[in-house]
Formats: sequence, structure tokens, C-alpha cells
Amino acid sequence: MSKTVKIGKSEVTSTPLGLGTNAVGGYNLFPNLNDEDGLNIVKTGIENGITLLDTAYVYGLGHSEELVGQAIKDFDRHQLVIATKGAHDFSSGEQVIRNDPKFITQQVDDSLKRLGTDYIDIYYLHFPDHDTPKAEAVGALQRLREQGKIRAIGVSNFSLDQIKEANADGYVDVVEDEFSLLHQDRGADMLPYLKENNISFVPYFPLASGLLTGKYQRDIAFPEDDIRSQIADFQEPRYGKILTAVDAVRPIAEAHDATVAQTVLAWYIKNPLISVVIPGAKKPEQVAANVKALNVELSDEEFKQIDDAFADFKQIKSGKSLKDPD
Ligand code: NAP
Repeated sequence: MSKTVKIGKSEVTSTPLGLGTNAVGGYNLFPNLNDEDGLNIVKTGIENGITLLDTAYVYGLGHSEELVGQAIKDFDRHQLVIATKGAHDFSSGEQVIRNDPKFITQQVDDSLKRLGTDYIDIYYLHFPDHDTPKAEAVGALQRLREQGKIRAIGVSNFSLDQIKEANADGYVDVVEDEFSLLHQDRGADMLPYLKENNISFVPYFPLASGLLTGKYQRDIAFPEDDIRSQIADFQEPRYGKILTAVDAVRPIAEAHDATVAQTVLAWYIKNPLISVVIPGAKKPEQVAANVKALNVELSDEEFKQIDDAFADFKQIKSGKSLKDPD
């Protein structure tokens, strides 16, 4: 695990593969996962060399952050990169998205307490709100950086125009947004701007929630109450197209004695527009397996073969898998 990436213009560095922890303590997203499994997922990741842990207040309304904080106690904090996000305010009983300086400043203090740490390596505005000028919200984060509470500034789920506004003073280090081999349309306008402005990119849903691991078969039917029965990726004819593209990865995976998931993750790691890929996991074995993607070195030709297999997904306007909160 030799390669290291720098986050934007900050001093934060990470291995190019981290761990997404929305399933760790995220009882509001994945009700079937218990805390012990969540802790094991994080610890297994760190034991296998992962340094960057991606969490957020809204994953379990603080509980994911608490579990991440608990898990890291057994490790050297300074070797780890803790990324968290805030913007959700439930104090009125309803979900309100807020980026105003007063709220965000309090959010950072609350996250520090839950994580049991005195600094956060990357803090993201999780979603844009309707009212706060973006540069004002980022200005509040810059003050927190000057106080040593955060080390790098991120925005997530911002459109290109909103990113430009947020980066008016050049303070934004990193953007996190949905992007995968199956959802490349959003990145098309955003990624060149990020590269030109030395802003790192962290794609979420890199495995398209498991679809890109190669574990799904044709002729699959989901019961109506299964969320996958509503996700566009699992509906024909798109689903069949996706499985055909995934099949093109299999021989490349075999040539590296790797799994499809590891080979797909290796594609993100080799992609010069991508900084850190953060696959999530629901089992410790999945994290342990995914870390091995760092040992899969794709040739330029193999990178292109995978790129070509998914080329159609650059054109298709697929939108985001989940609706943004209002
Ligand atoms: P993902 O990385 O695309 O997919 C992860 C899922 O794929 C796992 O939960 C697991 O689900 C399956 N999987 C993972 N490794 C596997 C393996 N080796 N073999 C077979 N199946 C495997 O989706 P995600 O976890 O939802 O997203 C990644 C991270 O992005 C999140 O954890 C979160 O930190 C971040 N995120 C950020 C935002 C944002 O708004 N900024 C939004 C969403 C997510 P099953 O076992 O159920 O198949």
C-alpha cells in the first residue's frame, strides 16, 4: 500500500482506498446491522491498512461517528484520516438542510465530541442549502481550519456552479459526489474543473451498491418492498446492459487473480481524476477483500478496456441514485 494521495491544497494525505461507513451505525439507512458488526468493519479496515474513514452525522444521526470514534481508539489517530459531513438539522422535528455558519460551526463541535478527537481531517458540507451563500459557508469552515478543528474543506452533492461559488476564495480541497462506472454523466462537467483547480474528487457509490461487484445474475426478481425493485439500475433494459459491461471485467479480473470488485476498484485507483475511492461494506470480509484492490495494478490497456466496456454510461443521463433532500 505504497501510493499516497494529497487532498486538495491541504496537508492531508491518504491511501487511495478508504472505507465508506454509512452502514456502520447507520441504523436509519440499514436497520439490520448491529454495532458489533459496525465496529468490526472499521477495525478490519484499519488493520488491513485503510487510513481514510468516511462518515457523516446523518448516518445514524451521530451514531456512525460515535462508532468510528470508538473503533479508532485502539489505533494511532495520527495515521488516520477522519472525514465527516454535516448539514442536516432535525431540531424542529423535520429534516432541514442548513449551511449557515452558526449551524455548521456547532455541527463541527458536535462531530468532534462524537468522534472523540480534537481534529477532523476532512469536513464536508453534506448537501447545499437554499439560502446560505456558498462562499460564506465555506468561510466558516476556513475559520474552523484556522482554529485547528478541521484540516481540509469539502463539499458534497454540490452542482458545478455551486462548487465554483463555494470555491470563490480557493478554500475548497475536496468534492464528494456520486460517480461510478455506471453513473459517469455528473462527473463529465465537474471533473475537469476540479482537476484544474487542484480539488480532489471522492466518488460515492463506487460499487453501485454491490452491482459492480459482479455478484448479480440475470433473471433476478426483487420483492416489491425491496428497495432494489425501485432503483433504475436494477430495471431492464438498463440492468441487462450493466451485466454485459460487468462481464467484460471478468477476464481482466482473472488475469490478475482478483475479483470483479477488486478490479473495478483498481480502475478508480488508476483514474487520474479520482483521489480516494471509498467503497462501503456490510461485512468485515468485504472490507478485507476490497483493500486488496490496492495490489491490482491495471495496465493502460486494461484500464481502457474497462473504460470502453462502460462507455455508454458516459452518455446516459442516469441522474443520482437517491433523491437529494429538499
Ligand atoms: P457502494 O460502495 O457502492 O457499495 C457498498 C455495498 O456493496 C456494500 O454495503 C455491500 O452491500 C456491497 N459490497 C461491498 N464490497 C463487496 C464485496 N467485496 N463483495 C460483494 N459485495 C460487496 O455504496 P455505499 O457504501 O452506499 O457508498 C460508499 C460510501 O460513500 C458510503 O459508505 C458513504 O460513506 C459514502 N456516501 C456518501 C454520500 C454523500 O451524500 N456524500 C452518499 C452515499 C454514500 P451488500 O452486501 O448489501 O451487497
